Amino acid sequence: MHIDTITSPDLDWQQEALCAQTGADFFFPEPGSSVREAKRICGMCPIRSACLEWALDHDERFGVWGGLSEKERLEIRRTSR
Ligand code: SF4
Repeated sequence: MHIDTITSPDLDWQQEALCAQTGADFFFPEPGSSVREAKRICGMCPIRSACLEWALDHDERFGVWGGLSEKERLEIRRTSR
């Protein structure tokens, strides 16, 4: 999962990440593939809000974060400016 690629010590909240248990494949699907399964897992994740906030703050462009796809996060960034 994306968490494995992040080593900052201030990211303890990510220890509860459900995607760390399921693997990254769902969260970084091939272009055009479904993100439904990733979103389903995010929907059960206890740190969803923190995850989404982190992704928006750090301008994460790829993959599903906090239950939102790349396009959905882009839309939030656009409308929050
Ligand atoms: S909200 Fe989704 S992407 Fe974020 S940590 Fe949880 S399972 Fe992973």
